[in-house]
Amino acid sequence: MAEAEVKRALVVGAHPDDPDFGAGGTAALWTRDGWEFFYLVCTDGSKGSADPTMSPERLVPARREEQRAAAAALGVRECFFLDHVDGELSPNRELLGQIVRVIRTVKPHAVFTHTLDVIQRNSFINHSDHRAAAQATVDAVYPSARDVLNFPEHIAQGLEAHHVRELYLWGANDSNFSVDITEVVEQKIDGLMKHTSQFGARENFAEFAKQRWRDETGRFVERFQRVTLAF
Ligand SMILES: [Zn+2]
Repeated sequence: MAEAEVKRALVVGAHPDDPDFGAGGTAALWTRDGWEFFYLVCTDGSKGSADPTMSPERLVPARREEQRAAAAALGVRECFFLDHVDGELSPNRELLGQIVRVIRTVKPHAVFTHTLDVIQRNSFINHSDHRAAAQATVDAVYPSARDVLNFPEHIAQGLEAHHVRELYLWGANDSNFSVDITEVVEQKIDGLMKHTSQFGARENFAEFAKQRWRDETGRFVERFQRVTLAF
């Protein structure tokens, strides 16, 4: 495949493991079709343990390595980490500029992230870090990454403004697009299982996780709200 024909995708998640939960199957599947996937993780995952003997000093590097291993298992080319404090993510100017910088570096055709919906299917409250990551990512896609006069310091440093063509939000109440990941569902589970600090001790995690993506016909799907950005 010629360089110009390679389509890139950036998956932005709040915590280590969010990109795999949200779009890991799509990453594994589309990578087989020649896409290049990149992950961007906004927080350090430092609150993600129920073990009273665990410290953030041990947890943060462990979760980073787990995320790298999961990405590798799914064919993802590279992970970027912003290391904001877990639980305290804010969709502020700093986060916006950091995501814009990664978009202008990777130049993705498609960007994947969390939904902005606060309540999901009347069953879940969407974590505030997820909403903050989603808000900043959506704002980065349009208009900040696209327009040269936003964060002009990037342009001065040699990066170019970039127009993302498609946005995919996972967890949305009004999903309009499904990716059939049946072919790669075991690979997705393998990726998720790399997050041993999260799921290592959980019995039957693989089966539980698999059921989460099974539809009424027995196929496995990842669902998104897909937005095609004409301008
Ligand atoms: Zn999360």
